[in-house]
Formats: sequence, C-alpha cells, structure tokens
Amino acid sequence: MKKHLCLLLAVFLALPLFCSCEKNVYPLSSTEFMMDTVITVTVYDGEADALDSAMTLCKQYENLFSRTIETSDIARINNSNGAPVTVDPETAELLKIALDIAEKSDGAFDPTVLPLVELWNVTKSTAPPEQNLITEGLKSVGYKSIHINGDTVTAKNGVKLDLGGIAKGYITDKVVENLKQKKVTSAIINLGGNLYLLGDKKGEPFSVGIQKPFGKQDEHSAVLMLKNKTAVTSGVYQRYFRHDGQLYHHIIDPKTGHPSDSGLYAVTVIADSSSLADGLSTACLILGPEKATALAKEYNAELIMITSDNQLITTDGIKYDTKNGETVLNLK
Ligand code: ADP
Ligand code: MG
Repeated sequence: MKKHLCLLLAVFLALPLFCSCEKNVYPLSSTEFMMDTVITVTVYDGEADALDSAMTLCKQYENLFSRTIETSDIARINNSNGAPVTVDPETAELLKIALDIAEKSDGAFDPTVLPLVELWNVTKSTAPPEQNLITEGLKSVGYKSIHINGDTVTAKNGVKLDLGGIAKGYITDKVVENLKQKKVTSAIINLGGNLYLLGDKKGEPFSVGIQKPFGKQDEHSAVLMLKNKTAVTSGVYQRYFRHDGQLYHHIIDPKTGHPSDSGLYAVTVIADSSSLADGLSTACLILGPEKATALAKEYNAELIMITSDNQLITTDGIKYDTKNGETVLNLK
C-alpha cells in the first residue's frame, strides 16, 4: 500500500514536468543545410509540427529542382538530349515563372545559363576561363530553346537548365503557404538569405539588415522594416574570386558570358511573391539601376540597390528614416 502511494505521488509530481515538455515555447526555430545553403525557419505560433513540415517540404523541392541530384526533374531535362520530358506540375509552374522573367528582362535572367556558370565555376576557380570557351558556351545559352506544354518540357539538345537564381524563392512561397495551413501567423523564413516575413512580431514589422557588400559580417548599409512581404537579395560579394585585382562573381550576364558589370554590387527586391523577387534580384543586378527600376515597376516590386561605390538607390515606394545613426527603410 505504502509502495503504491509512493508511486502515485511520483507520477503526480512528474505530471507538470511532462506537461511543460509538451507545451511549445515560442519562438521555435529549425536550421538545416540544404540546396547548398543554410535554411532557417522560425515560427512564433502555430501547430506543433509546422517546422518539421516546412523542412520536409524544402527537401522534397530540392529533390525536384536540384540540377546535381540525378533523379531530379531538372537533371532529367538536362540529360534528355532534346527529347520531351514529363515533369511534376510544380516544376512546370516554376519553369513558366522563370521563362516569364527571362522574357520581361530581355534575357538578363536566363535559366539556361548553366554552361557558363560551370565554366566560370567561381567558388573553385582562381582565373577567368579562355574567351574562346566563353564564346563556345554562349552558343548553348538561350531561354527560347525551352518549350513547355502542360507538364511536358522540351529543351533543345545541348541546352542545360539551372534554377539556382529562382528555385529558393519558389520554395519559400510554398513554405509560407504550408505554414499558413499549419495556423502559423508569424514567422521568418530564411532560405539562404531569401527572406519572407510572415505576419508581424507582436504588432511591429520585422527588421531586416541589408548587408553592406564586402563589409564585416552583420555590417549593414540599411535596415528594412517589413511585414507580410518577401525580401530577396542578389549580391556579388558572396561567391566570387579575384584575379589581377579584378572581381569575378557568380551572376553571369548572358549577353556577354562574363560576370555582370552593371555598377551594382547588390539588389534587394521587395515583393509579395518570393519566386518573382528571386528571379528579379538576379535580373536587376545584371541590368543596372535604370533598367532594373523599369522592370521592377512591371512586376509591382520595390528595389534597394547598392552601387559599387556604396551608394544606396531605392525605388519610389520606399521611404527613408534615420534611427540611432542608421538608415531605416519602410514601404510607403
Ligand atoms: P543566390 O546565390 O543568393 O541564390 P541569385 O538568386 O542571384 O543568388 O542566384 C545566383 C545563381 O543563379 C548562380 O549561382 C547561378 O546558379 C544562377 N545564375 C547565374 N547567372 C544567372 C542568370 N543570368 N540568369 C539566371 N540564373 C543565373
Ligand atoms: Mg535570384
């Protein structure tokens, strides 16, 4: 009897411990290395499995879109030698968005730029490739060689796809949809710098640091206040090498076959859709301030551009403030 009483007492005392373990303490955050980058999702509310679900979704999309995973839709297209390939409807959807941005940016964004990306291979190279190889590589670049009919994609023989400039944005949009289904109303989704600020933080917008190109880690050119929007940055300062004092980075101008040289070191696109913002950020960096501004207008997006001499240029929908000596940007 005494033994039973002790056991009962032990269970009774342990009960609150179990209860407090089950109750989530927000914010909850999960970080994984995927798609050659660091992915972090932070939620401030919602159902218990929201984070796991978001991470599983990222993995599934990586398996569809990664050009280096042999069984992915993109690798199958790249190995098709011009034959039609049936793909997942979402691959077809992403490719259509990519082709639309390619068309509207007059080919600055081009998902067929892979031969040049591989030739420059900026994370491993120490010197630029021979010009004759660049000229040769350019021959198989051209988004007009991709045709989509329903879920069937045909790429001209020799044409290779790389969705590295847009896939993270598309996946971000899908993660946001998924989190909303899991009753999350406040979250930060960060896919390698591809940001979406879902809802707000206790009624206040989230603050996003705009990295100073080649600055110290966490050195900001400005702080952007944002809620329920995406902010996607393309910059020349993350993947690059230098040779003879010259900078060679990972965003290739399909007109020249060389890393873009538009006078811009970074472009942040603010929009509702992250797929759009991702494709646009790559395009705008190549196009330079004037053409980038015109393109952003077509898509109802706002831009924060940083020039090679560290000037900040923004589109009309952004207003400036200063707080504690820092430039603070808000949407008008
Ligand atoms: P991030 O490296 O942060 O994803 P971007 O979204 O700008 O930056 O994507 C850059 C990647 O897009 C490159 O690593 C390459 O895979 C691909 N890319 C390079 N140049 C172009 C281009 N002109 N059009 C489309 N994709 C490009
Ligand atoms: Mg991009």
